[in-house]
Amino acid sequence: MQSIPAISVSRGISIAPIFQFRNTPLIYERRRIENPLHEWERYQQAVRNSLTRLEQIYHQAVSEVGTDEAGIFHAHMSILQDPDLNEGVKDRIYSEKINAESALVEVSEEYCRMLEEINDDYIRARITDLRDVRDGVLRILLHVDDQQVKLAAPAIVAARELTPSECLLLDRHLVRGFCTVEGGATSHTAILSRSLGIPAVIGIPEHLLNLPNGTVVILDGYEGKIILQPDAETIQHYEGMQSRKRQIFNAALRESHRPAVTKDGHPVEVFANIANDNPQDLQEAVKNGAEGVGLLRTEFIYLDCDILPDEEVQFHKYKTVLEAFGNKPVILRTLDIGGDKQLPYLDLPYELNPFLGVRGLRLCLRNLPLFKAQIRAALRAASYGNLYLMFPMVTKAAEIHAAKAVIAECRQELEAEGCNIPTRIPIGIMIEIPAAALMARHLAKEVDFFSIGTNDLTQYTLAVDRTNSALADLASGFDPAVLNLIQAVIEGAHTQGKKTGICGELGGDPLAIPLLVGMGMDELSMNAGEIPAAKQIIRQISLREAQAVSRQALELETPQEVMALVKTAFPFIANYI
Ligand code: PEP
Ligand code: MG
Repeated sequence: MQSIPAISVSRGISIAPIFQFRNTPLIYERRRIENPLHEWERYQQAVRNSLTRLEQIYHQAVSEVGTDEAGIFHAHMSILQDPDLNEGVKDRIYSEKINAESALVEVSEEYCRMLEEINDDYIRARITDLRDVRDGVLRILLHVDDQQVKLAAPAIVAARELTPSECLLLDRHLVRGFCTVEGGATSHTAILSRSLGIPAVIGIPEHLLNLPNGTVVILDGYEGKIILQPDAETIQHYEGMQSRKRQIFNAALRESHRPAVTKDGHPVEVFANIANDNPQDLQEAVKNGAEGVGLLRTEFIYLDCDILPDEEVQFHKYKTVLEAFGNKPVILRTLDIGGDKQLPYLDLPYELNPFLGVRGLRLCLRNLPLFKAQIRAALRAASYGNLYLMFPMVTKAAEIHAAKAVIAECRQELEAEGCNIPTRIPIGIMIEIPAAALMARHLAKEVDFFSIGTNDLTQYTLAVDRTNSALADLASGFDPAVLNLIQAVIEGAHTQGKKTGICGELGGDPLAIPLLVGMGMDELSMNAGEIPAAKQIIRQISLREAQAVSRQALELETPQEVMALVKTAFPFIANYI
């Protein structure tokens, strides 16, 4: 038995035989041809067939994973219709008198080389898309059937790299997991596997691609590892874990529509973090018991678009989210770009320290047309639900004043245009900068609510870049330094009679829940899948116990001590980890 570390990109456990996904090699010769017109027509016909095929995949994807995730195939169709690419192939066929296959590969590889020089994760993903589209046309030219990758039985699919279309060509009812050598947590394939609920890891070593088909492995998408040749005992252990997790989740799900109230009657709101307007995801959040949206990460809606989404596009997306939640609050966070989130179509200046640079509200206040388009879209959508607006990356009251002035200006413009906007739209800020946390009692006078972004608050408090895996062991939201700041924020808000929530990953962590409740957090917002368990945990603790434990935690010195304290005080929480 051997345990191989990998990086988890989609949680869950799978025990199944491996299936090596290998594309049939696309072999062709560079041939000189006599009739360029004939070759060009052959190429155009292959492009048309490929477009038809992509359209079919697109419709399949829409019904299986929703419009947002399916959008990638629309992008593939645009690549296929790119005039520069196609003219390039035509020129090559005519000027060099070579076959369409060679012309296509040579021209597309020149493009890829140009793109490779740009050191950017997003562009790298586009190279994969370009090759994926190119190979689709090549298969048609070479009469290679791309449907030959048929799973006959449930399997964990191993591959060097999986493109989104390959991912969807596989029967989702038979795929039990994905493990790949290449890829990234933000690749479209990782996004697809998460939305399909399929466990996945990346960064597996090359030699796993030599494992014979049918070798049984365990894919642990919680800890990020592959276990080879597991013995009977290990299989039993993981099967037990799987069925326990399923039972616990299902039991919690049956209660998820009920409010979360502690044993001594203290209610806590439990909301969902949402990153897209995919109706299936929105319905799942409601089904899991979300009492509202605590964080609508609008930048992911922008990231899903190939060009800057205009006011109209955004209006429809926000309206969809608001309608899905009816009269439940939806906290729309304005664009949080900068740091590790870049929009490829916005040509932003290079920064030496982007996490300490022009990101979040700072960026919006420096790009008013961009900011106004979003605010106008949100205000227009407001009458379709219960909208709250929230600004990220706020340091000072002056920024809040400036942002509120933009909202007032947009409201005035829209009302003059005859638009009906609800009179009261609560306005809040994220507390994710230590300075804002320390000044919370002052900032609370300026807004209706706070939401604590512990992902950033942790990185800024501990001076640990949240994307640096070498420092991952230092970056803990359980660090007493972070917990003491959280306590200061809650007290600051409550002094002014304002509510505060949390929307960082800590909010959905089972061990953090008693601490947050004990510190007086009014609302917890988390990934939709974490809601049923969080509500069950809240129902099994009392506010009094939670307060006592959180008071003790604030006096400790290390995150390890804090976690050990919670585990000892509430042993039942181990079931939910
Ligand atoms: C946070 O910083 O905790 C947060 C919720 O925002 P994001 O993770 O999107 O930066
Ligand atoms: Mg943040």
